[in-house]
Formats: sequence, structure tokens, C-alpha cells
Amino acid sequence: MKKRVALVTGGTRGIGAAISEALKNAGYMVAAGYASNQMAAKEFSEKTRITAYQFNVADYEECQKVVTKISQDMGPIDILVNNAGITRDAPLHRLTPQQWQEVIDTNLTSCFNMCRVLIDGMRERSFGRIVNIGSINGQAGQYGQVNYAAAKSGIHGFTKALAQEAAGKGITVNAIAPGYIDTDMVRAVPANILEKIVAKIPVGRLGKAAEIARGVVFLVSDEAGFITGSTLSINGGQHMY
Ligand code: NDP
Repeated sequence: MKKRVALVTGGTRGIGAAISEALKNAGYMVAAGYASNQMAAKEFSEKTRITAYQFNVADYEECQKVVTKISQDMGPIDILVNNAGITRDAPLHRLTPQQWQEVIDTNLTSCFNMCRVLIDGMRERSFGRIVNIGSINGQAGQYGQVNYAAAKSGIHGFTKALAQEAAGKGITVNAIAPGYIDTDMVRAVPANILEKIVAKIPVGRLGKAAEIARGVVFLVSDEAGFITGSTLSINGGQHMY
């Protein structure tokens, strides 16, 4: 049987890179997206032999174009992991309209863009696996992250609504809500704040990107067809939702 094709947005660094690699190791054909860090994408592709595609998940037309290109290169996309995300932290009284919009566009509108472009093909083929990467901070809120928490919380609602629409067509839609994972995004948090965060994680450490990837591999398998509309929290026990 031909390998299923998976697209991981933000798939060349951090959690996304671990997801791309884990999917490849599980036997899928993988395309990894990225925004602008060509050096990281080149290094990632050389190391993993996974092709990287540069496109902006916040731009609908770019999403359309890349899906056409990947489908030509590899075949129809059966698995979508909406992982690309950014933070632009500030408390609301200092948050600019631009910081608000960038985070909503990149973290939430991106899910609409990618799912909208891919849903028709998945419906026609009566198969699809969509995993949206949310966040513990979308479940619990976080100081300085009104924009990010709103976007991630939106992902959880989006997931449950689309899961209902798509279930009859063999398409599952689930979310993963990672806790604090050791990636560039978290390394950017000042050390004294990070120390306080780790102290609140019952498992006593940051998570590893591979531990999120393991959840994705589980949810996208053909055998996971009865799991839809769920959120898998992978957070070391920090927030029990
Ligand atoms: P990183 O900052 O390490 O990597 C982000 C990836 O997303 C990069 O590949 C980046 O591309 C890509 N990206 C960013 N903006 C865009 C865009 N506009 N279009 C296309 N690609 C884009 O992030 P993490 O690995 O830490 O996070 C991955 C996901 O997990 C995010 O959604 C994040 O919100 C979520 N998450 C992370 C947690 C953590 O502790 N790290 C905790 C909870 C959730 P490029 O390399 O070109 O910059």
C-alpha cells in the first residue's frame, strides 16, 4: 500500500521537527512547512531527508499553493498537523493591535486556512487525520498571553466543531495541548520565570518535543478512527483538564 502523506506546519524546528521525524519513522511520507528560517530548514532536511516547504500559514493563497505543490510531489495529503505557532507576549494594557493580530493569524486562522484547503480532498477520499496543536495556556490562561491564550483556546473549539462535521466522512480531528516543552519558544522565557514554571510541573521537568510527537503518531494512525474531537493534554501533570 502507498504510504500516507502527512503535512506538518512549522515542521522543521522544535515540536514540529520532532513530529515530522516521528511520522517518518512510523512509515509516513512527510512534508514539513516553515516560515522563514531557511538555515534551520536546510539543516533539518539534510539530517532527516524530509522535504521542507516555505509558506506562511496565515496566508490562505500560500496555503492553497503549497498543498497543490505537495500533492504533485508526493500525492494527496491524508494527514495534517497544524503545529506552526508564535508568541508575542505582553499584558493587555501594553498589547498592540499588531501583536494581537499576528498571533491570531498565525496560531488560529492558520488552522482554518489549512483545514479549508484540505477538507474537500479528505471528504472525497473518505479519510483524514487532523491534529491541531493547542496549548496548556489555551486551557488555563496565562499572564501576558491574552492573544496566545485566545488563539489556542479557539483551536480547542475549532477542533470540536470540525470533528462533528467531519466524523461521517472518516476524518478525525483532535487537539494536543502541550505543557512546557524544551524548545526555542520556551528557552526564550527568562530563566527566573522558567524556574518557577518547572517548580509547578508535578513530573519535575520540561517536556520533550518527542513526547508530543508520540501523541501525534498515536492520533493519526488508521487504528485511531474512533478518537475524534478530543484534546490530549501532555503536560507533566501541570494542568488536569
Ligand atoms: P518553535 O518556535 O520552536 O517553532 C515554530 C515553528 O513554526 C517553526 O518551524 C516556524 O518556522 C513555524 N512558523 C512560525 N510562524 C509561521 C508562519 N507564519 N507560517 C509558517 N510557519 C510558521 O515553536 P515550538 O516548537 O515551541 O511550538 C510548536 C507549537 O507548539 C506552537 O503552535 C506552539 O504554540 C505550541 N506549544 C509550544 C509549547 C512549548 O512549550 N514549546 C507549549 C504549548 C504549545 P521558522 O523555522 O521558519 O521560524
